[in-house]
Amino acid sequence: MITLPAFTLMRPATLAEAARLAAEPDARLVAGGTGLLPNLRLGLGKPRTLVSLDRLAELQGVEISQDGIRIGAGVTLDRISRQKDLPTALHEAARSVAAPGHRSAATVGGNLCLDTRCVYYNQSEHWRRSNDYCLKYGGDTCHVAPQGRKCRAAYSGDLAPALLALEAQVETTSRSTPLENLYRDDGASHLALSPGEIVVAVRIPAPKGRSGYAKARGRGAIDYPLAGVAMVLDMKNGQITGLRVALTGTNSRPFVLAGTDSLASAKVEDAGPLLMKLVQKQAGPVRTTVSAADYRRQAAAILARRLLGRLSQGELS
Ligand code: SF4
Repeated sequence: MITLPAFTLMRPATLAEAARLAAEPDARLVAGGTGLLPNLRLGLGKPRTLVSLDRLAELQGVEISQDGIRIGAGVTLDRISRQKDLPTALHEAARSVAAPGHRSAATVGGNLCLDTRCVYYNQSEHWRRSNDYCLKYGGDTCHVAPQGRKCRAAYSGDLAPALLALEAQVETTSRSTPLENLYRDDGASHLALSPGEIVVAVRIPAPKGRSGYAKARGRGAIDYPLAGVAMVLDMKNGQITGLRVALTGTNSRPFVLAGTDSLASAKVEDAGPLLMKLVQKQAGPVRTTVSAADYRRQAAAILARRLLGRLSQGELS
């Protein structure tokens, strides 16, 4: 860990000014800083300007109505974990992030925009230089897949799968779009944001069933997900009438599991093994953590099956 590089900190009072400053070359946005600042201390980036979002009232607030929920991007994860009348998946995802001190500073927008992670990337400058850098930052070879030209670093935010399962829309300074569209399948450039485009809020429609989030991690007290699964389940007379599942930690972007429509009308006990197969097929972890890729794939599948069981038993609301 090294000291932070020198930068100028700007604290704009309006969203328009923040967007203008963030569009400048070598500028980075900072909210809680729990993801960005450790990376800067590792030498991952040398921005000349950090544009703080802490003074922007437009990013604050949680509005709950019959039509749904709007959450400002600047709301902290601590508040999300304690806020009444939010879907359980969102509560559980927020509670699972890091430690209380991190959650008191980390924000919804920051977690959605979390950088991808890799065992060859989240290392000190000295370590990366000694190992010839990699193509995500400073080098031209991927040490995970040397024959390829694409970074496979894993997206590891916990909130995104919960929001994807809940069919969230994301509002930015220039558009409102399904949250899926915020992400690209490219570990070196996984956010589909234009220069100066800022995530302002997320909107969730009224949930279509019970929801939950489950996460496998190396250290139970504080860690990024090796795999994370969020789910919204609707049932009638023991049969599935609606199932939406989203994953994190296994691919370069969080994603909605395809094919869950095929489980409609299935009994939960029959759906479990089929759901596991869908997850095993679509989760694509590679050697970006010290845990084996196949372990993460199997963990994701088992998390999904267990979460389906918990939701169907009414353990989660
Ligand atoms: Fe670097 Fe490859 Fe890891 Fe991406 S997946 S961070 S390019 S080693």
